[in-house]
Formats: sequence, C-alpha cells, structure tokens
Amino acid sequence: MPRGITPRRWLLACNPGLSELVTEKVGEDWPKDLDKLQAVAKFADDAKFQKRFMDIKYANKQAFADFVLEDSGTVISPDALFDVQIKRLHEYKRQHLNLLHILTLYRRLLNDPDYEMNPRVFIFGAKAAPGYALAKNIIRAINKVGDKVNNDPRINGKIKIVFPQNYRITMAEKMIPAADLSEQISTAGKEASGTGNMKLALNGALTIGTLDGANVEIGEEVGEDNIFIFGNTVEQVDAIREKGYNPYDYYNSNWELKAVIDWLQSDYFAPGEKDAFAPLCSSWLEGGDPFLCLADYADYLRAQEAVDKAFGDKKRWAKMAIMNTARVGKFSSDRTISEYAKHIWKLKPVKLGRYMQE
Ligand SMILES: *Cc1c(COP(=O)(O)O)cnc(C)c1O
Repeated sequence: MPRGITPRRWLLACNPGLSELVTEKVGEDWPKDLDKLQAVAKFADDAKFQKRFMDIKYANKQAFADFVLEDSGTVISPDALFDVQIKRLHEYKRQHLNLLHILTLYRRLLNDPDYEMNPRVFIFGAKAAPGYALAKNIIRAINKVGDKVNNDPRINGKIKIVFPQNYRITMAEKMIPAADLSEQISTAGKEASGTGNMKLALNGALTIGTLDGANVEIGEEVGEDNIFIFGNTVEQVDAIREKGYNPYDYYNSNWELKAVIDWLQSDYFAPGEKDAFAPLCSSWLEGGDPFLCLADYADYLRAQEAVDKAFGDKKRWAKMAIMNTARVGKFSSDRTISEYAKHIWKLKPVKLGRYMQE
C-alpha cells in the first residue's frame, strides 16, 4: 500500500507563495483535492507563469539563506542550485554516496579552477540514532568536509555545505520550499516508500533518485523527462550480491573514486587526527560496502551531470519543476487514507455532522 503526505502542511502552510499562485490558477479546492493541481501543467511552458513560479522558489531560497546565515554564519547564494537531502541518517539512505559526489566536485575544482558547473549548495538535514556510531561518523565527515569547502577561497564559493543542527519537522518546512533538487538515493530495494520525496516534488523540487520505494511511482506520475533516475535496480542489486559483491573492483578500476576515498582517509579534512573517518572508509572497503555506494557511484555522477546541465537551462528547469508540482496529487494522504479505509480496514464512509464540516 502506498503512503502519502498532507497537502495542508506540505504546501498550504509551508509554502504560502506557491499556494497563492496555484490557488489563482486552479481554484481554492486543491488542499482537499490535490489532483486539482493537474491543471497547473497547462502553464508549464508559459513564460510568465514560469517566472512567477521560479520567483517564488527564489524568495523561499533567500529566506532559507537568511536562516542559514543566522544559524551558522555560512553565506549561501539563492542563485546556486539547492541540493537537498533531508531524512534520518542511515547507511541505506546513503548520505555517504552524496558525500562521494561532493568530494568529487571539490577535487575537480581544485585540479581545474575553470571546471564548469553551476554553483551548488548541498543541504543536509538528519539525525542519527543514539547508538549508531557509523551514522555519527558520516555526520562528522559531512561537517568536516563542509568546514574545508565553505572556507576554501580557491573554489570561489562554487560549493557550499550546510548541515543545520536539530533537524526536525519545523526545519523541513523551511528547507522543502527552498529545494531545487531532492536527493532520494537509497539502495534499490531498501526504502518501503519514503514521503520526503513526495513533499519535495510537491514544492517543485526535481528528484535525483534510484528506482526504489515511491520514487518509482513519482517517476510514473511526473514522467521520465522530469526526473533523474540512476543506479542499479532491485534485480541488478540482487544479481550483484548473488555474484559476490566486491567493492574493491570498483575502487581499483575508477581512479576518481579511489582518489576521493583515499583523500577522506588522509588527515586533510581533520588535520592532526589520523583515522577520523576510518569507520566510514572501512565500511566502503573492508566492510564490503553493504549498501553498494561504490557500485552506484559512476552512474550517480552521470545523473548529477545531467542535473547540472538541466539547471543551466532556466526555461527547461522551470518547466520540469512546474510539472512536478502539477503531477503529484496522487500522493495526498487523503487518497491513501481513504484507500486504507476501504481495502484494509473495510470501513464505510459516514456523513459528517454539521459541526465537522469545514
Ligand atoms: C517527511 C519527513 C521524514 C521522512 O523522510 P524520508 O525522506 O521519507 O525518509 C523524516 N523526517 C522529517 C522531519 C520529515 O518531515
């Protein structure tokens, strides 16, 4: 059975600017009937509508940038691509695959100051379970890489990393309206559904994701032109494991992958502290990389390059973002709860008393 999200919190309350715009176009019923958003698709190619849609996104990004400045003193620009991964910190959700991409870009920029890419802000929101040491090591690695990257004058602010403390619903409500890109990169077969993916798409963020959980259905709804899919499928993951997965095959045959893991194993990011990220690095190597980060690394980079190219084409990006908002009505919790009521709980609907209407 599918899961869903409430459009009242995840659009109406958290994104007043976009809510007003869609109300103007499709009427005021959409918070109770999210399929009404389909009508927004008609305006996906309309230059005036694109501008209003993206101006709202920009204002939301500016508001989040103001929060980040206040929160941590880090300056981020709303002109950059806001690349967002917000969810519990877990190996299967693969925040550490995202980190491999960041390290790859940082390394490319240091080797070639003219390396072409749109500026990006990598935004993380996550907590780790108290006893989950490896998850904490991943959080520390992202923060330590962030300290370096955010203060490195050689890369001209092309990459920033923000990881605010105490991620929670109220913080998600600030991040989601500001997101350009939604990272849904779990190992295929591991995520039952996910709901963060739905919240972000509803607010006009494009998904980069594996064919896992509800990403599959989001792809069906928004269309393959409006999502960035990569990585091994459930069947391919099974086949790799069947054959006997050896992460060293990938590490030894991809020089760039080897270089970034070796970099993290050096004391570059935590000076004077040898082995600061040994738990993380050994999980990828001697530990057998149980969630197949290394097997998906090359295709993830390919998809990220496609994202970068699309973001450079403002009209194309606006159209894709609008199509995401227009086509995720299916993920309203109103629909999923009524399906549970009908098929699982076998309940009959009752007519609401007059005190309960509105
Ligand atoms: C929606 C939500 C989640 C679930 O996110 P997934 O990406 O589906 O794992 C977790 N935490 C918060 C605060 C949320 O709002």
